[in-house]
Amino acid sequence: MTVAMAKSINLEKLNARFEKAQPEEILRWAIETFSPKIAVTSSFQTESVALLDMVSKINPAIQILFLETGWHFPGTLAFKSEIVKRLGLTNVTDLKADPKKREAFNAKTGGKPYEADPDRCCQINKVEPLEEALKGLDAWVSGIRRSQSETRKDIKIIEAYQGLFKINPLANATSGDIWWYLKEHNLPKHPLFDKGYLSIGCWPCTRPVQPGDDERSGRWAGKEKTECGIHTSMKPKLKKPEAPEENQEGSNI
Ligand code: SF4
Repeated sequence: MTVAMAKSINLEKLNARFEKAQPEEILRWAIETFSPKIAVTSSFQTESVALLDMVSKINPAIQILFLETGWHFPGTLAFKSEIVKRLGLTNVTDLKADPKKREAFNAKTGGKPYEADPDRCCQINKVEPLEEALKGLDAWVSGIRRSQSETRKDIKIIEAYQGLFKINPLANATSGDIWWYLKEHNLPKHPLFDKGYLSIGCWPCTRPVQPGDDERSGRWAGKEKTECGIHTSMKPKLKKPEAPEENQEGSNI
């Protein structure tokens, strides 16, 4: 992206416009504006399928990034294969930790880094691989929603992180909206969903939840931790290729 293009994006106006837009409209704008330097992150759980379906209908060759930590449920990996095939996604990349760093930390923690230091475990296996993959891109699309948790309630639809735009097309969607979409488009559920796993990450850090519980309460249950860090700690760490200025006057967008 050129500096001129980055500066032409008026975040304030764009966010105001997209507050009432459908996720597909936001996603289409993002893909048309930033391709090919755009990627979508996905954890391939039940709710991920709505966004992936929307992407596949706009351009199935958009890069999808999956954080392959090595601790996914077998059901997640099987579901991922099923979804990739069904939606015809042609550009799915597994992101992995630096092997030396991972092995050293696993050894230091007796093979249970998620118990010894889950923040460091997420940093090595999720945050750092994603940071690396996002270098050189102009935009990152995420499926997070405001209603998922306290930590996500203030996200904007378009955010700028020092040269990288983060787009959250589902920011305004509720869990009900996602379920409506899945039903309307006859899309499948993750095999663990009906066993109470409403939000699914790595198996050592995911528990089923009881009816009425917060949908993310099964993640790192019993710990203070509520986020892996990719949505909360990356802002100051991303490289600075070209700094877009927010709220420029005279933007065309
Ligand atoms: S979710 Fe758990 S197992 Fe996965 S990277 Fe984070 S701490 Fe490690």
